[in-house]
Amino acid sequence: MIDRFNIAADILKLAGPIRQKLQRPEKQILVNFSIVLDNGNEQNFEGYRVIHNTALGPSKGGIRYDNAVNLEEVKALAAWMTWKSAVTGIPFGGAKGGIICDPNTLSKRELEKITRAYTKSLADIFGPDKDVPAPDMGTGPDEMGWLMDEFSLVHGKTIHGVVTGKHLHSGGSLGRVEATGKGVSIITLLALEKLKLKPAKSSVAVQGFGNVGLHSALFLYEKGLKVLAVSDISEALYNPEGINIPELILYYNLNGKSIKGYPNTISIKHEELLLLEVDVLIPAAKEDVITKLNANDVRAKIIVEGANGPVSSDADEILQENKVLVVPDILANAGGVTVSYFEWVQNTLVETWGVNQVNRQLENILEKSFDTVFKTANKYKVSPRIASYILALQKVAERQAVKEVIV
Ligand code: GLU
Repeated sequence: MIDRFNIAADILKLAGPIRQKLQRPEKQILVNFSIVLDNGNEQNFEGYRVIHNTALGPSKGGIRYDNAVNLEEVKALAAWMTWKSAVTGIPFGGAKGGIICDPNTLSKRELEKITRAYTKSLADIFGPDKDVPAPDMGTGPDEMGWLMDEFSLVHGKTIHGVVTGKHLHSGGSLGRVEATGKGVSIITLLALEKLKLKPAKSSVAVQGFGNVGLHSALFLYEKGLKVLAVSDISEALYNPEGINIPELILYYNLNGKSIKGYPNTISIKHEELLLLEVDVLIPAAKEDVITKLNANDVRAKIIVEGANGPVSSDADEILQENKVLVVPDILANAGGVTVSYFEWVQNTLVETWGVNQVNRQLENILEKSFDTVFKTANKYKVSPRIASYILALQKVAERQAVKEVIV
């Protein structure tokens, strides 16, 4: 099996050191630090930051807190960020970070200590013009606020632009929290239009009810789609008549951020959600949930990748043969990093934008990117996924060639 990078690189006839350079991270850093837990014991943690590429600008990408975090995963996620920024045309490179920990079992105080210790270890790597972190799985505005604060303390001045996805009072942007889900919904509507399907007559299943899944489900519900199924770690819920998402969100917030036990729905198996007969399937949880093992059983007409890497490379061909339209992660979930860019611009210019300005510009960028990806797919007779890689690789390779000094 050759992966997406290699398929696109072959089409572009990319060879030699440039091809190798784009395949490998520029830098990978492993840090370890200890904190005192609430119970008085000391515990050591391991964390990573991988800078994949900086040809197009400062590296950009989230920080993940999860027990399953490992260097290989962070490397893959960092590369995806490079391609994501390139596809949308924002002037950033790609990076990703992570700490091996379970945020659900740590107190706020412990999470703050971990975030500050991680930031201190990486204080010479981060910077508004160098490497700009953001939230990812298991992190949010609180962590980003602590990161900014610690980084500012180390440097002896306030530096808002070192991180995005902050609370508004820490220099965050309006529209950033919901940006990834908003982007997923914008892209879903464009994909429906491609297949000449009407939103009011379309159905959707959403895997994952974190920041991305929740907002994707909400915006699509507001656009008139019937949300037949949603899931989180605790449960997968199904209602053939459609689930009232605003009501479910109220329940979820009162139920300790869990959808478990929500009435008027049937509980189904997690794997079943991915195979439901719906117009749109949005996997918005984690990597590799659709593989060659279940790809043939997918009955959705469209898959919009809310998560990073939910469809594995070996499932691509099967889905393409079965005429499932897959809108790839590096386009579908790029709303988050796009509004991160707006936040970074506001921080740099010391400006505050209204939510309408943020959303209008987000829509413009995603519509243009969607259009370019589909035009490229037609031109090269490839899937939207490979077209996205072609576009991204072309841009990064061109810039990299200018930067590269081979003496
Ligand atoms: N973690 C998000 C992603 O995977 C956002 C990254 C960012 O805003 O820099 O796209």
